[in-house]
Amino acid sequence: MDPRLLEELIDWLAIPSISTGDGDHAEIERAAAWVVERVRRAGGEAELVRIGAGNPLAVGELRCANPAAPTVLIYGHYDVQGPGPLQLWSSPPFEPEIRDGRLYARGAADDKGNFLPLLHVACAMAADGTLPVHVRVLVEGEEERAGDAVAAWIRSDQRGADAAIVFDSGMPDAATPAITVGLRGMVMLTVDVRTAERNLHSGLYGGSVLNALHVLNGLLAEVLPGPDGRVREELRAGISPPSAVELQSWRLLVPGEQAIALAGGRPVHPGAGEEYYERNGADASLDVNQIVGGEARTVVPAHAQATLSLRLAPGQDPERMRAVLAELLRAALPDGAELELSATCAAAALFDPEQPALRLAAAALARACGREPVFLRSGGSIPIVAEMAARGYPVIVSGFGLPADNLHAPDESYELHSLEWGEAAARELYVGLAALGGGA
Ligand SMILES: [Zn+2]
Repeated sequence: MDPRLLEELIDWLAIPSISTGDGDHAEIERAAAWVVERVRRAGGEAELVRIGAGNPLAVGELRCANPAAPTVLIYGHYDVQGPGPLQLWSSPPFEPEIRDGRLYARGAADDKGNFLPLLHVACAMAADGTLPVHVRVLVEGEEERAGDAVAAWIRSDQRGADAAIVFDSGMPDAATPAITVGLRGMVMLTVDVRTAERNLHSGLYGGSVLNALHVLNGLLAEVLPGPDGRVREELRAGISPPSAVELQSWRLLVPGEQAIALAGGRPVHPGAGEEYYERNGADASLDVNQIVGGEARTVVPAHAQATLSLRLAPGQDPERMRAVLAELLRAALPDGAELELSATCAAAALFDPEQPALRLAAAALARACGREPVFLRSGGSIPIVAEMAARGYPVIVSGFGLPADNLHAPDESYELHSLEWGEAAARELYVGLAALGGGA
């Protein structure tokens, strides 16, 4: 590993660029300016871009000698979560320290350490004239608080890109590099039921008036998954089944039953563990996240609220699924009850592992790590990737995070080995993606 990569990372990690409240805004500006300065030092152009009242984006460009070369957009975020209680940290969160092959600091894995190899290698190759693609740098400062400045930038950037690389993801284990080709979308829904002006006495009115918790239960019964854990067919419309390459790749992973057991969960149905990767990556799922209502005394509750998350498989349209879910709930509402729904939606994303950019990326990772990468689907959502997919960019979602990195928790850390693989992978990705040819 280039020792300067580690030095740079330690320098960047020492800036407490916290975006999740009680951070100092000056540190946000410093961490963003750090990126701009790094690109300029390598001979590129870079600036801070401000959209609305959000934290600045660091946007830059490292051009290669061949004007017809493809443009690769690299994305990361310089903001970090707050450290939480300092006494839970073995060393101060913004004084990076190496212990047992790991670098400890807030942001070490999420996302400074994961992302920096992409920037460092692009700068190093640009500075010595060996960069084979144009690299457009996009580093945001609101990922941890779900700001929308970066989405607005991606929607409005007229130049487009031939491919994008996002290192904000991980590996199933330290020996297996991975490319995440699918991300689920989501409809997050708040369901409010009102059945009376105020809570009533259960002795005087019970059995005669509507009970908001009972009504809410009735509505939920309409949309909850069956005993096999599957949601009803109406909520599964549009699902794209996994490809043969993906299915083959999933067989190399920790068996699903074991993955569930390691997390401390229990299968919803016999056999569900075996189907874990297919259920998690390529099916819809609905969970009630919270129910609030009533009091622990003799009342008939007048109001009840539930929060639901409907995760959508790639292929499903979030707006359409929001409407279907709302219609199912409305149809089950008894006369006299009032229903209010409020939703936020996020799109799913799916990249065909057989398309040129993904094939080149898989070969690049195999060269860098000495082992073929697996193709994963994540059950979670990365909204920025869906924005890039909507622009038609093939996105290589990868990175070298591991379950032991303690993201968002005390003693966050990143393996030096992951940093090394990140550096090698960045170099091979730029070399490999040059074969795409320009266009954007
Ligand atoms: Zn995070």
